[in-house]
Amino acid sequence: MTLSASLLDRFTAIVGAGNCLTEDSDTKAYCLEERGLFRGRTPLVLRPGSTEEVAALVKLCAAESIAIVPQGGNTGLVGGGIPYETGDEVVISLRRMNRVRAVTPHDYTMIVEAGCVLADIQRAAEEADRFFPLSLAAEGSCTIGGNLGTNAGGVNVLRYGNARDLVLGLEVVLPDGSVWNGLKSLRKDNTGYDLRHLFIGSEGTLGIITAAVLKLFPRPRDVQTALVAVEELDHVLPLLSLAREASGDAVTAFELLPRIGLEMTVAHMPGAADPFDGPHPWYVLIELSSSRTGGGLREALEDMLGGALENGTVTDAVLAESIDQRHALWRLREGMSEAQKYEGGSIKHDVSVPVSSVPDFIKQASAAATERLPGIRVVAFGHVGDGNIHFNLSQPPGMDKAEYLARWEEFNRIVHDIVEELGGSFSAEHGIGRLKRAELERYKPQEALGLMRKIKAAIDPENRMNPGKVL
Ligand code: FAD
Ligand code: ZN
Repeated sequence: MTLSASLLDRFTAIVGAGNCLTEDSDTKAYCLEERGLFRGRTPLVLRPGSTEEVAALVKLCAAESIAIVPQGGNTGLVGGGIPYETGDEVVISLRRMNRVRAVTPHDYTMIVEAGCVLADIQRAAEEADRFFPLSLAAEGSCTIGGNLGTNAGGVNVLRYGNARDLVLGLEVVLPDGSVWNGLKSLRKDNTGYDLRHLFIGSEGTLGIITAAVLKLFPRPRDVQTALVAVEELDHVLPLLSLAREASGDAVTAFELLPRIGLEMTVAHMPGAADPFDGPHPWYVLIELSSSRTGGGLREALEDMLGGALENGTVTDAVLAESIDQRHALWRLREGMSEAQKYEGGSIKHDVSVPVSSVPDFIKQASAAATERLPGIRVVAFGHVGDGNIHFNLSQPPGMDKAEYLARWEEFNRIVHDIVEELGGSFSAEHGIGRLKRAELERYKPQEALGLMRKIKAAIDPENRMNPGKVL
């Protein structure tokens, strides 16, 4: 695409010169994905400040047959928000659209613009004595538009669901530049197809989300956190049931940590420490929360863990006695991804299986990976309560990193075939983007792929909305 001076003038007339970035030095941050897996090119990054501006930009792009890549915080990990290397697409960054339009405590809702940073949304809810539960490690920089674009998950899914479950309405700029205003705050609305769910998880391929009505919840006032040591993977699911039953279903997080992951985190993450005297093969981070002050969760947790220690489900446990201790326990979980960067190459899988199959999956996939490459280090961790495991494979110590990473697809095949066999999904959290298109072709049933293509063609017949992503 050649960006003529007259065309640039027309873009400038919509968003102002300061919001049309054309210099490489200004655009390059929008063209690089954090892990460095994708490095694209664009002649133009546009930074609209309102829905009207987004609509006008998309209309101009439609008239000029220009393809668009919507982008939020650019924290996605599958290349979905990065333009291709051809330099034929413009990037529309939503980051300037960061207003909270309204918080309505009695509706337990808020209306936010797509470029709002997730942590700011959490804070705005808290200021209204409400709680927005979506929470993930990138929350300081990811935007709600990107969270909805990828149907993000995170650590509270067990209790509150994915991003998809937290939305009542959407405002979307469609590929022809028209605006669908679906910003209704209704809990009940049975008027045909539920269009919001088409756009959530569509990774910018059907339109640009410009605002959303989000569901809020009562603020948790009693939060209890424990790190529990378990000898056997098979003890983890009985422990989950026990915790749910004993707490009146107040489990908000239930995260698995393997010994090797804890060791890596303690070795590389400042401030991370192993709270136990000796090593244990597995750990579970359990968090209970209730909106009642003095909700009795502490007693419930102590009773539950007392029983579990007695019958051997659990071998040791530490309960957070303060907010600092709670953060210290969470640090062990949250540092786990980053710590692996210091251990050489890591081949990653973000998979889900039915919760009951998690132990089976970890055992089968660990055995298969180790058989293929002795010395490979399995770091399987994450959201057991959702059946979602980050099954990461760190290279054998001393092996050449590039040589190891060249085997990425070989290990994907081993792991994803086991996932498929168990009725799972090869992408639980991060979407498809560019990275997993071939896997989608391989594992998604033909009928489902056919329907997805028909929907794409109906809404974006000229294939200008994030082309070459997902499908
Ligand atoms: P971007 O990266 O900018 O975009 C992501 C996709 O959404 C792209 O396809 C883009 O085109 C599209 N998009 C962006 N904005 C819009 C819009 N307004 N309308 C339509 N489409 C749009 N994900 C999880 O699910 N759970 C986790 O626990 C988790 N943890 C993470 C931890 C770290 C440290 C990092 C770096 C990422 C993590 N992620 C996780 C990935 C996560 O999905 C993204 O970080 C986040 O949801 C994307 O938001 P973003 O604003 O950065 O979107
Ligand atoms: Zn995760």
